[in-house]
Amino acid sequence: MLNFNFYNPTEIFFGENQIAEITKAIPKNAKVIVVYGGGSIKKNGIYDQVSQALRDFTWGEFAGIEPNPTYQTCMKAVAKIKQEGFDYILAVGGGSVIDGSKFIAAAANFSGEPWDILSKGAEISSALPIGVVLTLPATGSESNSFSVVSNSETHDKLPFASIEVQPKFAVLDPQVMKTLPQRQLTNGVVDAFVHTMEQYLTYSVDAKVQDRFAEGLLMTLMEEGPKLVSESVDYKVRANVMWSATMALNGLIGAGVPQDWATHMIGHEITAVYGLDHAQTLAIILPRMMAEQKETKRDKLLQYAERVLGLDIADEDSAIATAIELTEQFFHSVNMKTRLADYDIGEDAVNKITEQLERHGMTALGEHQAVTLEKSRNIIRASI
Ligand code: NAP
Ligand code: FE
Repeated sequence: MLNFNFYNPTEIFFGENQIAEITKAIPKNAKVIVVYGGGSIKKNGIYDQVSQALRDFTWGEFAGIEPNPTYQTCMKAVAKIKQEGFDYILAVGGGSVIDGSKFIAAAANFSGEPWDILSKGAEISSALPIGVVLTLPATGSESNSFSVVSNSETHDKLPFASIEVQPKFAVLDPQVMKTLPQRQLTNGVVDAFVHTMEQYLTYSVDAKVQDRFAEGLLMTLMEEGPKLVSESVDYKVRANVMWSATMALNGLIGAGVPQDWATHMIGHEITAVYGLDHAQTLAIILPRMMAEQKETKRDKLLQYAERVLGLDIADEDSAIATAIELTEQFFHSVNMKTRLADYDIGEDAVNKITEQLERHGMTALGEHQAVTLEKSRNIIRASI
């Protein structure tokens, strides 16, 4: 096992009717700005629950954070915060609203040009405190310190990380998933699955606890994911998927083990250029990444085949081929497509995405930095 520090200070309120608990978690004298997206929370009653809980607070709101939050929109929120003196952000939404809120929280306290946080990795020394009401389990953003923000003018989609923007608390009420469209349920299952794979499918450092936690998450998502997108979904299914998505990226399974993230980095470029949903890009790239990296990931691929998929691994090559095929089939089982061509994207993606990767310095990706530009090119070509 590698050395690690593990610190996750986000308090989780999990379960039905937990939105009311925000009253206890936000300081009484805070001036709260509720940040949300395109308005789904106004249709499904979440906005009403939040307003009710905030009735004794001084609060305002900023709406319109878009999926794949943009720098441009976030900066409008920063201007409002500075003008009106808000000092606490309550993010009510999915990964986009939470990631956007993290950038807003950092930018509001930043003295230089906030774009440098994304483009140059400028250090963040403080940020406004953030609380979260999660409406879409997928990204794990509700209890981690990562954020990804896009620039709609330059087609950049760039990540940053800082403990300063880690949410103070997050409310996870599985009932909020009732109004999620099929496409977002599918996205959530796939994103959580790929987060787990990015931290599991590397090389072994004999981290038994992390491996078994990760295998438990993968098995749970494979078991519950297809139920979630079917007609007869119930609370138990929603609760298990919701908690899996949080656990997949709250730092626990990634502590003390190598991490990959090459699938995510290529996926971000596909979203930046073609506008596909985040999880759609991951389902396209992961199977090809597994195939391209099958020698460096050999032992872990066999462990995945045997322990997660229950395959006989006596014939190693065929077990690995089957494991990759079953992974793609799992994506299909939750109604996720796995080819660029399914979205009418063709050969021109090979150059476009490779150029983007080069422009962003993504030339040595993965746990061994072995995914060179040439390998990324092969992966993208194979993904069409
Ligand atoms: P999202 O972009 O936050 O939301 C997608 C859509 O779902 C929005 O249109 C949203 O509508 C709607 N929605 C959310 N909750 C709903 C509900 N309860 N009922 C009905 N509709 C609802 O999706 P996401 O997958 O959670 O986030 C994706 C973003 O997170 C990407 O930018 C991705 O790169 C990033 N990401 C971050 C991390 C991290 O660790 N920080 C990790 C992976 C990915 P409204 O706009 O109306 O709310
Ligand atoms: Fe993700």
